[in-house]
Amino acid sequence: GAKDLPYEEFLQAVADRQLLEEYRAGYVATFSIENVMRHFKAGNNYLQYEFMITENGSDYFWMRIDAYIFYSEADKSVHMFTYRKNIDEEKRKELETQRKASTDEMTGVYTKKATERIIDGVLCGKLQGSYSFFIIDIDNFKQANDLHGHIFGDYCIREFVERLKKFCREDDIIGRIGGDEFVVFGTISDEEGARRKAARLCQKLDTICEDSGSCWKMSVSVGIALAPQHGRSFAKLYEKADKALYQTKDKGKNGYTVYEEKE
Ligand code: GH3
Ligand code: MG
Repeated sequence: GAKDLPYEEFLQAVADRQLLEEYRAGYVATFSIENVMRHFKAGNNYLQYEFMITENGSDYFWMRIDAYIFYSEADKSVHMFTYRKNIDEEKRKELETQRKASTDEMTGVYTKKATERIIDGVLCGKLQGSYSFFIIDIDNFKQANDLHGHIFGDYCIREFVERLKKFCREDDIIGRIGGDEFVVFGTISDEEGARRKAARLCQKLDTICEDSGSCWKMSVSVGIALAPQHGRSFAKLYEKADKALYQTKDKGKNGYTVYEEKE
């Protein structure tokens, strides 16, 4: 069985058979002989790794391995004592707390801080081609509040987000970065693809909001920056998409503008 395998083959076999794919490489790298020895020589005798594992091949739960590295005089070699702990309950609570902290309560999309962190995370990794960064701002939204009250305004924002979620792809990142200002970040084929997406988005959100006898015509303005050509950080893309958004507002709203570099 697996236990007769050399140590590193055993590690790899456990990873392949039982760990959720995204934790396999980290597990093998953490407990590889080379990594364990490197830590030990650097004066660190403790390693820890958290991952999702299955025992029946279908239900995964969180586990933590605490590993203590020590030198034994008896056989003059380095040993490792590992302690496996099921941490599923505490880990799920922790993740739920994190999720709540990064979710805008009213709409269920990411908060500004979370949006920034996640987009920066994507942009500092290996890029999957090109990305578009949309700032979407509801047109004349103050009017919706002024005409029909704040409760109706809140309803319009929720309606807007429902439509936005339906429109976006599963892996698009959607965040609320201001009262009536949202970001959508995701991969695109090219600039033309971003334009098509924006045109469809504007069309989808050009709609009538109706609730409890109140009625308001909604539309949105979009400013677009592209990554990596316009920047590789939330801050840079935000700055440029915001300039493009102002142009859309200047041109009469209910449309989109792609940022253009000026010399
Ligand atoms: P523009 O077309 O230039 O975007 O004009 P605007 O009226 O949409 O923009 P402005 O920034 O002047 O006003 C946005 C308004 O959105 C002001 C604020 O009271 C309202 N607002 C912000 N957050 C909320 C919210 O959560 N609920 C409601 N009901 N209103 C909000
Ligand atoms: Mg607005």
